[in-house]
Amino acid sequence: MANALLIVIDGPAGAGKSTVARRLADHYGLPTLDTGAIYRALALMARERGVAWSDEEGLAALADELPLRFVAEPDAAQRVELAGRDVTAAIRTPEISEGASKVSAHPAVRRALLGIQRRLGAAGCVAEGRDLGSVVFPDAPFKFFLTADDRVRAARRLSELPAGLPLEQVLQDLQRRDERDQSRAAAPLVQAPDAVRVDSTGLDLDEVVSAIMAAVDGRQRAD
Ligand code: C5P
Repeated sequence: MANALLIVIDGPAGAGKSTVARRLADHYGLPTLDTGAIYRALALMARERGVAWSDEEGLAALADELPLRFVAEPDAAQRVELAGRDVTAAIRTPEISEGASKVSAHPAVRRALLGIQRRLGAAGCVAEGRDLGSVVFPDAPFKFFLTADDRVRAARRLSELPAGLPLEQVLQDLQRRDERDQSRAAAPLVQAPDAVRVDSTGLDLDEVVSAIMAAVDGRQRAD
């Protein structure tokens, strides 16, 4: 069923998941699903509503009714709307990155956001996140774990952020978030046993995309 094709890409921050997901989505005619944006939107909403990033119950209540919408934009990353307001840029600041990392560590938050992720991905998509192959979409037919050296990932992140931030600070932020993602009890960042690992350290974007497409196409032909 071509329209239910589900490709999931997990991995640490800055590994290139979003760019790769967009390229794959264009190629296969699928939407993308950026699950990190969901945690980011929750962190932003909590900040604006005065709910602390440590308040698991308060956050889970917000997550239950998160008024989030992804709007497709031609030739661009999709727009993220929270209660009808465009928050695409507001959820990408270093402060909200830190907040997303904190709110995502709470088991009740992760539980509350499972349904929205499954609903958004149900009709087929290229989804990216941390626990998609292991928890959110354990039956996805195509699972990839995209990673790269810390310094390479930090340099890539730096190029997406407003100018002026030192590489060392971006590297430290990223390592702190990696550590939190990997060590949390609920749905930590792990490679699912049936995921294909792709290390993009020495590869350019085209090479990563080609490697993933070859794996998808090879399996589709074999099935
Ligand atoms: O991918 P992105 O950096 O936008 O994700 C923001 C934060 O959301 C991550 O640091 C991670 O802690 C969390 N996250 C998660 N599970 C996902 C996607 C993101 O815990 N599936």
